[in-house]
Amino acid sequence: MSRNYYDILGIAKNATQEEIKKAYRKQALKYHPDKNSGDQKASDTFKQVSESYEVLSDESKRKIYDQYGEEGVRSQGAPGGGGGQGFSSMEEALRTFMGAFGGGGGSFDNFFGNEGPQGHYAQQGANKKIQVTISFEEAAKGVQKEAAIMNDVTCSDCGGSGAASPSDIKHCTTCKGSGQLHQTRGFFSMTTTCPHCHGSGTVITKACTGCHGAGKLKKKQTVKIQIPAGIDSGMRLKMNGYGDSGENGGPPGDLYVYITVTPHEVFKRDGDDLIVELPISFSDAALGAKKDIPTLDTASYKLTIPEGSQSGKVLRVRSQGFPNVHGNARGDLLIYLKVETPVNLSSEQKKLLKEFSETETSQNSPQTKSFLDKLKSFF
Ligand SMILES: [Zn+2]
Ligand SMILES: [Zn+2]
Repeated sequence: MSRNYYDILGIAKNATQEEIKKAYRKQALKYHPDKNSGDQKASDTFKQVSESYEVLSDESKRKIYDQYGEEGVRSQGAPGGGGGQGFSSMEEALRTFMGAFGGGGGSFDNFFGNEGPQGHYAQQGANKKIQVTISFEEAAKGVQKEAAIMNDVTCSDCGGSGAASPSDIKHCTTCKGSGQLHQTRGFFSMTTTCPHCHGSGTVITKACTGCHGAGKLKKKQTVKIQIPAGIDSGMRLKMNGYGDSGENGGPPGDLYVYITVTPHEVFKRDGDDLIVELPISFSDAALGAKKDIPTLDTASYKLTIPEGSQSGKVLRVRSQGFPNVHGNARGDLLIYLKVETPVNLSSEQKKLLKEFSETETSQNSPQTKSFLDKLKSFF
């Protein structure tokens, strides 16, 4: 085959257009037929110099040449052909190339030929996903849980190579270690993955007994999961590096822990606020009272219910809610009062209530009064 265009002009691969022009002038003068009449060798060299210049002086042609070599630009009618398919333009040649990639499928995958052996890329291991259920109290205080996961682990006997010993890893003789087989068919050079070594370029003559040549093993692993206080249902923890081991020296995958918090019988949650519904008697609501109410931390909290509290009133106790999972300020404890109408009254109680009702004025029930007033205005 003819020499490389850059070598013919005597320039570097990254030569500027200025350098290309200069080199061409120098070579063309030297080998010009006028100066070398009858010298066939000089005439051939002059043709090569012209051909090289024609391609390299045109940046788009140069790009194609850099990528595909001489075959890629031969369609321009450059001499020394044979095997070319007569593309009328560079664009057409390129389209044909691209078409081969777009629709040609597997056999053209490695057409560019600069990918090296397949299957030897460092790849991150697979990520894993587990579900962990914790109690409401555990979510409030934080907890450490253990979980068993099945992971791919690098075989410790062979360090992941799959061979019994390093000397049992041999170059594949079919592909001479490249992992690929090249075939030239007319214009196209086809590359296929070596069927013998499956693209790795190496074959193992004696497999590791620990992993039977796989280089990794499925192993049950116990992981300790530190669940921070303040976590809520639907949140996800990421544990870096707790997934499957990587391939060919790649990093391991990650473990994602999806949290479910079981509901509490008494408490509910709204963000970082803790909510409790507190039923109180009608007399406590009217007269006011002190009540012990449960909290997440201390045994109880002495809550003052003010005189004249209405059903649905919300009392707020600052910083007695959930700790914020990101370590910010705590939420509040919100107490929803629910006034209970007395039932199962004794005759004595009924008598007292009747006596009481006879003393009632509209001042005792301002809401009732204002409602009736509004209603009156309709008629
Ligand atoms: Zn092994
Ligand atoms: Zn091979």
